[in-house]
Amino acid sequence: MSKEGERWGEVDQRSVWHPFTDQEQWEDSQPLVICRAKGCWLYDDENQGYLDANSSIWTNIHGHNHPAIVEAIQKQAQTLCHSSFLGFTNDRASELALRLTSFFPGGELPRCFFSDNGSTALEVAFKMSLQWRQQNNQPEKTRIIAFENAYHGDTLGASSVGGVSRFVKGYGEVGLMVTRVRSLEQLEGLSDEVVRECSALVIEPLIQGVNQMSLWPVGMLKALRKWTKQRGVHLILDEVMTGFGRTGKMFACQHEEVIPDFLCLAKGLTGGAMPLAATLTSREIYEGFKGEGKTFYYGHSYTGNPLGCAAALANLELLAKQETLENVEQIGELLELGLQKIPGFKIVRRVGLILGFDIEGDGQAFCAALKKERVLTRPILNTIVIMPPLCLSEEEAQFLLGALAKVAKANLS
Ligand SMILES: *Cc1c(COP(=O)(O)O)cnc(C)c1O
Repeated sequence: MSKEGERWGEVDQRSVWHPFTDQEQWEDSQPLVICRAKGCWLYDDENQGYLDANSSIWTNIHGHNHPAIVEAIQKQAQTLCHSSFLGFTNDRASELALRLTSFFPGGELPRCFFSDNGSTALEVAFKMSLQWRQQNNQPEKTRIIAFENAYHGDTLGASSVGGVSRFVKGYGEVGLMVTRVRSLEQLEGLSDEVVRECSALVIEPLIQGVNQMSLWPVGMLKALRKWTKQRGVHLILDEVMTGFGRTGKMFACQHEEVIPDFLCLAKGLTGGAMPLAATLTSREIYEGFKGEGKTFYYGHSYTGNPLGCAAALANLELLAKQETLENVEQIGELLELGLQKIPGFKIVRRVGLILGFDIEGDGQAFCAALKKERVLTRPILNTIVIMPPLCLSEEEAQFLLGALAKVAKANLS
């Protein structure tokens, strides 16, 4: 580590409080200081490269510093960095809203509400659903149905809906009113009295990320759409992780031809370059907020930020290229087959370029060893997550598999 790197690490340990981090351990560690990035690689203070095997916590899509996204941000920065979305609009945000809603050519989700991150994208959907009921003659509908072990973000409301107990402990108890179910069967078994009070059902489609990359059964989403329609419950899809090509299609809901009442997008929306989120919704929901006393009182200082929207527009341009999504399935399959061959890796799970497998033992220790092999990812308990940028090359995939095999051999046998 360089002198400068050492200093940054020390300064950090004295001054910073990191997310989801045991600071006692952190203060005893030697922090890796990331100074620059290119493509699928992150570089430290000594210019040592590391493969970004979890897309910088599931955000990056086309590799770091993609020239088209960088150019879009630079151009926008010279033109307009930010102006309030309260009482005004800006060209980038309105264009992006049009582009996002146009993914549903039947006009099913014609409205886009911007916020800043995945948690707020979900908060918007919860609040819209609940408030809509209050002002559209269904005041009894005050509950959200959520799945066990779901993860929908960390703000107070979003974390109270999530079902990962270690994230909710201590404050999640005061939050939204939630009915939790484990499966489709359990949902279908809910009594009429309970369902009567339910405003919306929320799910991470195809795969629960934070719940150790657990796949839902095929057909689940379609069945949920049918159930929610029949029972008068809004369907909220949390595509914060699965959106923007990660599953091999633009959105996970397209795998089962499902269109929700709310679609929540964040992480990959800007290609991983800027914080930005969007909640898309239907005409019916939108119309229910018109008129006196029906306003949706929600928003943040940076709502509709032009820099974020410019990055998102460039991201969508890149996603429109055919080879982007083709690569997801090709490289995804290559990685899956490779992981299955490595002794000690259990229950390899995959959708698109989202992969997870279990190891016997400590995920943290495994990932620390992986770091020495110049691969960065973050475990969830004993699950190792592999979620590289969509542009990962075959050569990089082989490098990744080689590093994993080496660490497995040294640590798991
Ligand atoms: C990351 C994530 C969130 C929260 O997004 P933040 O941007 O971290 O607030 C919500 N839902 C899912 C499925 C996620 O993966």
